[in-house]
Amino acid sequence: MNSPVTHSSSDSRATSRLEHVPVTKLRGVGSRIAEKLTRIGVRTVADMLFHLPHRYEDRTRVSPIGALRPGDVIGVVGHVDLTQVQFGRRRSLVSVISDGTGMLWMRLFHFRATQQRALSRGVKVHCFGEVRRGPKGLEMIHPEYRIVDDEHVVVEETLTPHYPATEGLHQLMLRSLTEQALAMLRDSRYTLTEHLPTSVLEDLGYPDLCEALDYVHRPPPDCELSSLEAATHPAQHRLAFEELLSHHLSLRRRREMLERLQAPALPASENLAPLFVESLPFALTTAQQRVHQEVADDLARPRPMHRLVQGDVGSGKTVIAALAALQTLEAGSQVVFMAPTELLAEQHLATFKSWFEPLEIDVGWLSGRLTGKKRQTILEQLLHGTIRMVVGTHALFQQGVNFEQLGLVIVDEQHRFGVHQRLELLDKGKSGELNPHQLIMTATPIPRTLAMTAYADLHTSVIDALPPGRQPVDTVAVSSSRRAEVVSRVHHACNDGSQAYWVCTLIDESEALQCQAATDTAAELTEALPDLEVGLVHGRMKAAEKEQVMSEFKAGALDLLVATTVIEVGVDVPNATLMIIDNAERLGLAQLHQLRGRVGRGAKKSACVMLYKSPLTEAARSRLEALRETGDGFEIARRDLDIRGPGELLGTRQTGQLTFYIADLIRDESLLPAVEKTALVMLDDHPDSAIALIERWLGDTVNYADV
Ligand code: ADP
Ligand code: MG
Repeated sequence: MNSPVTHSSSDSRATSRLEHVPVTKLRGVGSRIAEKLTRIGVRTVADMLFHLPHRYEDRTRVSPIGALRPGDVIGVVGHVDLTQVQFGRRRSLVSVISDGTGMLWMRLFHFRATQQRALSRGVKVHCFGEVRRGPKGLEMIHPEYRIVDDEHVVVEETLTPHYPATEGLHQLMLRSLTEQALAMLRDSRYTLTEHLPTSVLEDLGYPDLCEALDYVHRPPPDCELSSLEAATHPAQHRLAFEELLSHHLSLRRRREMLERLQAPALPASENLAPLFVESLPFALTTAQQRVHQEVADDLARPRPMHRLVQGDVGSGKTVIAALAALQTLEAGSQVVFMAPTELLAEQHLATFKSWFEPLEIDVGWLSGRLTGKKRQTILEQLLHGTIRMVVGTHALFQQGVNFEQLGLVIVDEQHRFGVHQRLELLDKGKSGELNPHQLIMTATPIPRTLAMTAYADLHTSVIDALPPGRQPVDTVAVSSSRRAEVVSRVHHACNDGSQAYWVCTLIDESEALQCQAATDTAAELTEALPDLEVGLVHGRMKAAEKEQVMSEFKAGALDLLVATTVIEVGVDVPNATLMIIDNAERLGLAQLHQLRGRVGRGAKKSACVMLYKSPLTEAARSRLEALRETGDGFEIARRDLDIRGPGELLGTRQTGQLTFYIADLIRDESLLPAVEKTALVMLDDHPDSAIALIERWLGDTVNYADV
């Protein structure tokens, strides 16, 4: 093909770049259509070209009737043998059509008398539609049909594209617009720049941009329809690859930028860390030691660390955070530890106090609920450096919070914050030229696909083993009609000296209703289990009340803790061995896994009972099954990604950072190794093309980096 696609280096002054040609330049696009196109992200002719068909019809040929199978979407040509009105459950006009190889019934439920007359015996018709099994044989219901004379059976020259439907934009319109856009692509007055280096295209066996677009919008009759429909054709791969590459490049560039920044070099701790490790009632696992070493090495460098520590629930991430904090404190810098919920932050405050106070380190507290004098005091202490370590919620990054010398920011359960807030942290806490180090922890294991597209600006460590002695949590799903049995199970467990959680869930209901449900359940269980001490914790209680209840539960003074999903993350009471989740069918996989992770933290065998209301939807059933089948957080994340998609998994739906136009993280996973490799080549050898690619695909969303 005579390709008008220019490479980045060539001169394109005389031509217009399709990225700059508004879609209104196309025939038929007035302000009304333009507005509808904008809604699907199409503003320019280039955008139109990147709006790809999601399926195709083969109108390039006709099939012998004898070769038809139910489910085929295909054209046939034959003679009408008979046309008559049938009076069944619904009146229909039926024509029997034959071509010498077989017979097909064409059925129309809506018809006019003129149609009945026109489809008279002997007339030749060309029908296109879906073949299904009818009462007497194969039939097409409401196919597109046309009466043809003997010579004139016109077929299409290419496969017919079907575009993702949008209200008010019909297929015919979209076909006409893409037709015009493709014509401009071939017109030498316009260009769409090829940003992929020729060597990359050759290595991967990809067509150039123009060829790929042409192929995908108008595939030739001899193409492999099945590979096109599965989106695995090289032309489609090439486009998905380009988009994935641009995302990866933008994060890589961030990483490079970050690596040019300065941070305080914090030498390994010689006093505090060893003392702390000695004080622990257990030895670090090999996985913890390795990750601790990786973090310690990062902190010792004069560049800001950006490290993500992944570890399944209960893998012992908090100890890693404590060691990093001690290294920072010993080197004379301050530490911030941020948790996504008030309750979790309170738990961590208690943990760090118990660990650090013996080492004569005060631990401060800051949350959004802290006001007035107390707030003022802690702000001053942080600013003057009289408090070196502070635990809290997102409030730590509000205006007015300043530090004397912030060295390390630790973000726990980062998946609960979302990408946006993570990036926001970067600029905070800067003192002079020095940036704080960042340690980010998450219990939602991130499948490789996501790690590469959402976290490529971070270095990653994985705590890939649980502390010894942990046993898998026995997980069962039980219908709520057997609630009484579950209550007596709680009774037994607590009489045996264990403790239990009862989690009340209400999705899509207000927090108030959720708290009410927990309050009611607590009342009900208190009555049903008079010999047990039942506690209640929910999001609407005062911080001090929650703290009181949690510490009673931790100390063993409460047998049963009724709670809302506030206890989802981080809560750590090893003696609790039974978890009941009410209405488990309403929760997502990740959330169920997190909740279940509250038990099985000690040496005793634990169990999780997922109470559900029948009937279960198919999706809910598969979630509960997944939980029963596996306790492996990576496997669960993988299934969650399949079920929910990446945006939900990362909580980044709003930021738009992970919406792809063409690529699909699950479908296109196989492209990622090449994406990673190509990114390095481009950053080194073709930095301008790299930037152009980021601009093409991420446009102004790249600006999130400047927050
Ligand atoms: P998570 O990774 O979910 O944040 P935590 O840090 O809360 O896990 O640790 C879970 C529990 O395991 C805590 O009670 C913690 O004290 C304990 N723990 C951590 N490391 C070890 C270890 N090496 N051996 C035994 N218990 C450990
Ligand atoms: Mg934790």
